[in-house]
Amino acid sequence: MTTPSIVASTQAQESEILDVQKTSCCIVGGGPAGAMLALLLARRGVDVTLLEMHQDFDREFRGDTIHPSTLEILDQLGLADPIHEIPHSKISGPTLQFADGPFRPFDLGRLKTRYPYILMIPQVRFLEFITAEAAKYPRFRLVMRAQVQQLVVENGVVSGVRYRASDGLHELRAQLTVGADGRFSQVRHLAAIEPVKTAPPMDVLWFKLPKLKDEPEITGGAFGGIGHGRIFILLERSDYWQAGLVFPKGQYQQLRTQGVEAVRKSLAEIEPRFAKHAESLTDWHQFTLLSVESSRCPVWHKPGLLLIGDAAHVMSPIGGVGINYAIQDAVVASNLLAAPLKSGNVSEADLVKVQRQRELPTKAIQAMQSFMQSRLIANVLSCGLSQARVPWQLRLFTRIPILRNLPSRLIAFGIRRVRIREN
Ligand SMILES: Cc1cc2nc3c(=O)[nH]c(=O)nc-3n(C[C@H](O)[C@H](O)[C@H](O)COP(=O)(O)OP(=O)(O)OC[C@H]3O[C@@H](n4cnc5c(N)ncnc54)[C@H](O)[C@@H]3O)c2cc1C
Repeated sequence: MTTPSIVASTQAQESEILDVQKTSCCIVGGGPAGAMLALLLARRGVDVTLLEMHQDFDREFRGDTIHPSTLEILDQLGLADPIHEIPHSKISGPTLQFADGPFRPFDLGRLKTRYPYILMIPQVRFLEFITAEAAKYPRFRLVMRAQVQQLVVENGVVSGVRYRASDGLHELRAQLTVGADGRFSQVRHLAAIEPVKTAPPMDVLWFKLPKLKDEPEITGGAFGGIGHGRIFILLERSDYWQAGLVFPKGQYQQLRTQGVEAVRKSLAEIEPRFAKHAESLTDWHQFTLLSVESSRCPVWHKPGLLLIGDAAHVMSPIGGVGINYAIQDAVVASNLLAAPLKSGNVSEADLVKVQRQRELPTKAIQAMQSFMQSRLIANVLSCGLSQARVPWQLRLFTRIPILRNLPSRLIAFGIRRVRIREN
């Protein structure tokens, strides 16, 4: 056997390795992309090991949106009804309150699908659900607290990883290694693949607000109040409000210095109906900052290695599409790679096909997000309450029947529906 060469910033001693295990497909990262790919491959009879560095799936504010495309995929697996048994709420689209009246940039309620809404369930429940399904297949293995630190490379081909667990360093050999380890992907870094980034003009503070008696009715389950160069977002959850404050990029330190009181005041001014709710904010620790980024890798693969989900492309939060696009990557990867993995013949040409099928939909949604950011969000963030108006081109767009469902379709499904193929 050739001695593996290790690509790593922190090279471990060979003697530190406790054991060398084998699988067909090693997936790094138990987020939506990794968990779904693991389920689909295990279901197709492929040996798959999913490595997740945390001890559980519980992470605050990682996005809880299950879009129509994901619901249709779950339906194909016979899992759409069980997922609806998890406590949830439903959103069909936001209503943005401008100085010149309300504006609905998209409305999933008009789409032709069994699931014309975004199902809101905590991501932790979703990931537990998917991995529990995967665990029903004998070829699935999940290792929690397994932090991948190195790639094993033989003759220029990635042939596995080294991960640190609580008892030390392990090596896992695989025909294919998939980096599904999110926006700060260590696998991508070790493979020296550089994403091309753009900087959307905003950042978001996420937080929870309590539900009180006699709550206001929110059309479509989501609301955006606009004022003072900020957007106050509210998403209806079963037992609380998921709230966000969108502000111009670069203003976080200023907000932080002004403190919680200033945020509370700002929320109450933008949307007085939620002034009482905002009183529950007393400590900066109640906020989570989402530093908004949008990026895409020029290549998603190397011999023996594929990147999917946020590791390959980070989405702006417009439309909350990060999860469904990550899951669509997983479906396409499974469609194209299950058979070669089973026959032990995954070639780089197979990996090229995955990028080819997924790159165009990713570019299309990022182009739409960038349009919304430059035409709508940047305009709103640079205005005070009185001037914030919907650009006429956007109002016109949403009034033309042939055009008005385009944003909804892109957000719900992408430019084409992704379906699970069985062979
Ligand atoms: C604050 C916030 C709010 C968001 N809101 C939404 C939303 O409302 N809707 C939406 O669609 N998207 C949202 N997103 C984006 C969404 O979370 C991502 O697009 C989506 O989770 C991508 O899935 P993924 O599986 O590719 O990566 P991730 O979900 O990031 O999963 C990557 C996994 O890899 C693990 N990991 C990382 N490094 C290693 C390693 N070295 N070894 C082993 N495991 C590792 C991580 O622990 C993680 O579990 C939000 C993101 C943030 C940060």
